[in-house]
Order: sequence, then C-alpha cells, then structure tokens
Amino acid sequence: MNQIKPSTAVDEKLQRWMRDIRRKLHQYPELSFQEQKTSLFIQKKLKELDVSYRNGWGGTGVIATLGEGEIHSGHVGLRADMDALPVEEKNLVPYASKVKGVMHACGHDGHVAMLLGAIVLLKRYGCRSKVSCIFQPAEEHGNGADRIIREGALDGGVQVVFGGHIDTHFPTGVITVDEGVICSYADPFSIILRGRSGHAARPHEAKDSLVAGAYLVTGLQTLISRETDPNKAAVLTLGRFASGTAHNIIADEAVIAGTLRNSDSEVRDRLLAGLRRMTQSIGDQFDLQASIVFHDCLPAVINSTYSTQIARQAALEVVGGDRVVSQGRPSLGAEDFAFYQQKVDGCLVRFGANSLSINSPAHSGTFDFDENVLKVGAHWLARVAMDWTAVSELGKA
Ligand SMILES: [Zn+2]
Ligand SMILES: [Zn+2]
Repeated sequence: MNQIKPSTAVDEKLQRWMRDIRRKLHQYPELSFQEQKTSLFIQKKLKELDVSYRNGWGGTGVIATLGEGEIHSGHVGLRADMDALPVEEKNLVPYASKVKGVMHACGHDGHVAMLLGAIVLLKRYGCRSKVSCIFQPAEEHGNGADRIIREGALDGGVQVVFGGHIDTHFPTGVITVDEGVICSYADPFSIILRGRSGHAARPHEAKDSLVAGAYLVTGLQTLISRETDPNKAAVLTLGRFASGTAHNIIADEAVIAGTLRNSDSEVRDRLLAGLRRMTQSIGDQFDLQASIVFHDCLPAVINSTYSTQIARQAALEVVGGDRVVSQGRPSLGAEDFAFYQQKVDGCLVRFGANSLSINSPAHSGTFDFDENVLKVGAHWLARVAMDWTAVSELGKA
C-alpha cells in the first residue's frame, strides 16, 4: 500500500507566528507549577485554532486533542514542556524576560511554540488518527510529567509519546535520534546529620555534626572514584552543605544536598546503596543520628526501538539524511519525559539550535537559541504523528 505523504513544511507566515509566540512566552516566564499565564495563553491560541482541549493537568497543564473519530489504529501523544527557571536573564534582546529572576533558559518557550505550530500543520494537512498534544507543566522542578500521568494524561488510549528538546550543542537543522538511554537517571537527595550543640571549648560535651559532615562530603567522592566502573559515566555532585551558627558554638546539625546521575541501572543501584551505607556509617563513626532522603527521583530516558525507528524516519523526511545524527554518549542531564516511557512507548529527540551568532549554554542567563529551529521542531512533531498513524494503519491492514 503506497501512501502519498502530504508536505508538512513550515511556511514563513507560520514561522513568524511561532516566533511571536515564543517571544511573548519568553518575556513572561513562569516557574514550575506556576505557569498560569502560560496556560491561559496556550488556551487562547487553541481557541483561535478551534482545537478542543482540557486544562488543569497538574494545575496548569493543557492537553489538546486532534483528529478524534476517524481511525483508531493509533493514538499519538506529542509533548512540550512549559516552565522556566529561577535565572536572571542577561541577554539584551527586545524579547528579554520582564520577570525579575525568572527566565526561559532551557528553551521550553520554543517547545510550546513548536507544538502549537505542529497543531496548525496537522489541521492543515488532515489528521487521520487521534493526537494528544500535551503542554506539560514543571519539567524543571517537580516532575510534572509524573503528576499529569497520575492524573490520567495517558488514559484514553495514548500508545506512544514523542517529544523533542532544543539543544544548542548542535547546529540548526540537525536532529539527533538515538535508541536506548539518552538522558540519565537523576536521584536528588538530602542527608541530615543530627548531633548535639555545645561550647566550642568543650567538644567532649557535644557531638559535632559539622566535622562529621565534612568527613562525609570527602568520603562520598570515593563512591565514584573507587566503586564505579570507569567505563560507565556517573557523577555525584554535592551542591549544598549547611551547618553551624557561630564560630564558638559546636554545630548540632549538618545538611548536605546533592544529586546522583548515571545512565546504567546496575551502577545506579550500587551507588544508591553506597550513599545509604556511607551515611549510616558516618552516624556510627561520630555517634550521631544520620539519615538520607531521596526526592523527585527521575528514571532514565530510554527510547524504544520501534518509536525510535518512526522518529528517525520522520527526521529524515524533515531535514534529510546527513542532518540526522547521534547525540553521542547519553547525557547526564535528566528529563521527566522518562515518566511517559514508563507507561507507553516513546522517543525523545534533540533539535539543533546553534547558529554562528548564538551559542550559549542552557540554564544560564545568556542562553538563547536560533529561532529557525521552530520550523524544524514543528515540522518533525507533525511528521512523526502522521508517520506513526500511517504505520499503525498499515499494521492493521
Ligand atoms: Zn532545563
Ligand atoms: Zn529543558
């Protein structure tokens, strides 16, 4: 069965429409689970496009539905995250953030614009199967994907979820597609050491949590250097160590917060066990209470074979063979897209967005991206939904 695939290329008018959306969102960034204005803005655009939606997912999320009722061979989910970061923008651009200390420093403004652009394309070229367009809150902090999935975002027959992330490590026009692990496990944790305060001159009457904490900070480094296969990437960063109140008071409490990242489940299990073991043993060693809690842990993003095939095919159609590349080794960054893949098939790709004039790291106050990536992202999202539908249809024929 030969199917003629309609062109989904983005014209200049649609590119300008997406660019304006991106710039508007960029000026009014909102932190995780606080994306109220962003949510209302998305809903306004969906109304203009005459697309039905449900809002309130995770508080601010919006899921628009297309193509209901024609064929039921496949039901695709497309995902864009909506939130910004607690970063002060340093760019001197007309669309710079107007919200002090908050910035779209990860490109999620672009992701929303792309998904709205994909909706325009899917409507324009006809959408034969149901597509759920998921505008998801709180990717950066709080695992919004996990929350909206628990609220039922994938109920109703979503079989696969596709998404893409803007990435300035790659030039504009490139799409990276990789099967298997592409983003690491992330396990943030807090360690609390509770001793007993006392006079600086009489340590034998106290239990010094600061000294115990300092030993632990140093000791934990050996989990990576002495207990991890050097051929397997893993990182342990302790980003916070708080203890004590004055130079002449022995600290009764120390708090150490950090995150563990790696891309191998066996390595992860061993490191998690090591963190618990060392925390426990420092308590025994210094005769104080030691506890560790893990919070907002993220699974790895693991692209399935089948969804990756469809994602690669769509990328080839959108940017051509020489521009579909591998991202290389798995990133030690984390992505809550992983939660969709715990439930259904799914593939996350990266859209290159680096031009000669723009090359700044994500999560920094100087981050920006080449807006030509919006064309690529919208086109790929629409294309991958249509390709999935066509393949599902063929499978049922
Ligand atoms: Zn980010
Ligand atoms: Zn991001």
